[in-house]
Amino acid sequence: MKFEVTILGCGAALAARGRHPSSQVVNIRGGLYMVDCGEGTQERIRENHIRLQRLGYIFISHLHGDHYLGLMGLISSLSLLGREKAITVYGPQGLKEIIELQLSLSKSYLRFPLHFVETSPEGVNVLLDTKDVTVYSLPLRHRIPTTGFIFKEKKAQANMSKEAISKYKIGVRDIHLIKQGGDLTLENGEVIPHEALTSPAPEARSYAYCSDTSYLPENVAHIRGVSMLYHEATFIEKDIKVAKKTRHSTSAEAAEMAKAAKVGQLIIGHFSSRYSDDEVLLKEAKEVFHNTLVAEEGKTYQVNALL
Ligand SMILES: [Zn+2]
Repeated sequence: MKFEVTILGCGAALAARGRHPSSQVVNIRGGLYMVDCGEGTQERIRENHIRLQRLGYIFISHLHGDHYLGLMGLISSLSLLGREKAITVYGPQGLKEIIELQLSLSKSYLRFPLHFVETSPEGVNVLLDTKDVTVYSLPLRHRIPTTGFIFKEKKAQANMSKEAISKYKIGVRDIHLIKQGGDLTLENGEVIPHEALTSPAPEARSYAYCSDTSYLPENVAHIRGVSMLYHEATFIEKDIKVAKKTRHSTSAEAAEMAKAAKVGQLIIGHFSSRYSDDEVLLKEAKEVFHNTLVAEEGKTYQVNALL
């Protein structure tokens, strides 16, 4: 079952070296979840041939322009394209007012219901809970109220053994019960245990998004063991003072988070435009946490269970 992350934009505030402002699309079992929506996100969606019919939820981390200025354009375009299915936007206090003011002053009427849910920059909170996924907000520390997001896939049911079905002639109702953990009782009273009828479900996977934030070891407990972590890495160690002042992280700090939380894979992005290439950022991160990749726009990353 699908669990993947497509990076649409992973630049910092100033566009540089062809990078665009932050936006990602998380695909979990075919459902699409957008994380941040920087300027130009709708063009990136078109370039990457992402079909938005399956998009139902948008998560905005904070109100710095490079994380949400594409939202109004995206909403307008979806309406012009005839969308009727509702969208729920999760974001900080103020986002609803900003969007609704733009809609009302331009006398724009959307063809689809647009809902807003305000996030809290305090604590870890459940934002969304469906049959496929639970999405949590994660408190980050930045210059304005900011949250990260954690996507935790729901554990799938056990896989039914085809041989067992034909051997015991198991009916649909029993298959349903066995998949949920039940045993099978034969007519002669013999009980065939669940484990003999199924192979275990794959491990549930998880993805955490942390941008923008200071180095925040308090969050290690919350992201412990996630399959994949995207963490901002705006600066290199030499510029740690600027990182602290602007409430961003260095790539080594991002890697410290990944190492302490024992995550499966780290992806770093949101690099400052001051660096002419990514090599130093990657090198400094890899010295701390080897399994680090530099985010590449247009690339889709598979979220794999921890080994
Ligand atoms: Zn920011």
